[in-house]
Amino acid sequence: MDARTFDSKSLLDSLFENGILFESGIDGLYGRSGAFEEVIEQFERLVTRLGAPDKATRIHFPPGMSRATLEKSGYMKSFPQLAGCVHSFMGGEREHVQLLGMMADGGDWTALQKATDVALTPAACYPLYPTVAARGPVPAQGLLFELSSYCFRHEPSKDPARMQLFRMREFVQIGTAEQVRSFRESWLKRGKAMIESLDLPCEVDLANDPFFGRGGKMMANNQLDQGLKFELLIPVTSIEKPTACLSFNYHQDHFGQTWGLKFADGEFCHSACVGFGLERVALALFRHHGPDAAAWPTAVRDVLWSA
Ligand code: ATP
Ligand code: ZN
Ligand code: MG
Repeated sequence: MDARTFDSKSLLDSLFENGILFESGIDGLYGRSGAFEEVIEQFERLVTRLGAPDKATRIHFPPGMSRATLEKSGYMKSFPQLAGCVHSFMGGEREHVQLLGMMADGGDWTALQKATDVALTPAACYPLYPTVAARGPVPAQGLLFELSSYCFRHEPSKDPARMQLFRMREFVQIGTAEQVRSFRESWLKRGKAMIESLDLPCEVDLANDPFFGRGGKMMANNQLDQGLKFELLIPVTSIEKPTACLSFNYHQDHFGQTWGLKFADGEFCHSACVGFGLERVALALFRHHGPDAAAWPTAVRDVLWSA
């Protein structure tokens, strides 16, 4: 991890050479070393400790979610290019023989699979909203959750910070517009202070999501104009284009309306989430402090390992 190498491919190669990540043959799909996982574990502890005074309810969802939920959330309208759906073989013996024949001939045997009810989770908070809505009206003081999930996005890349399967830790506030805005403000401050305490260079900037197609441009502009998304950026593979490691999203009452999330008086709830990209933070730490976590600056180790 040479301070001069600042492009995706050479960072990825040096991560492989240093035994921090392991190749799988697929871009964006990597094995992680024990040291890498330990950094993630400690960082998660740090996040949890910072959020502890707010007494969030912790939920760990699996990396798969209800496909119907993903459909209803509008994900396929905005990000069809990123979504992944689990398919399985559901035929009988005849179809099985056909499948093996297709495989042997190098044909597209996946044509014999059918979509299951499971989609891969694209962001940790997607499975949450219907789960909360099913529990009845939201109390006046709002609800706060701390989530963690492996997430899938079909965006294969040589950039080690753009994985296809990665973990996201999120805090999600459901409440009034004012409650969720002040939640986001407080995490913008806390998140920046936390990253700075790890001696990583960072900046916070307005951002937009990569909405699909021509209509998507308008949605992205709207998101920017209304200041709905902020990102905390850290240079990982490029100084000019730093990587979004934390995201702060205000959904207005989009999920409230979609899932019927209401207060007892019938008013729709607003929501906001702050997402921590765990692999991206770990990569930023290895990138800036070196391949051997035991040799990181004492101040950084003290923050991480005291958590
Ligand atoms: P980007 O603009 O880099 O694509 P994003 O805006 O898509 O990021 P979000 O949708 O806000 O990111 O996801 C929340 C967090 O998950 C991000 O802040 C980031 O840390 C992490 N993340 C997103 N996509 C990936 C990925 N492909 N690989 C690793 N981490 C990711
Ligand atoms: Zn979210
Ligand atoms: Mg993205």
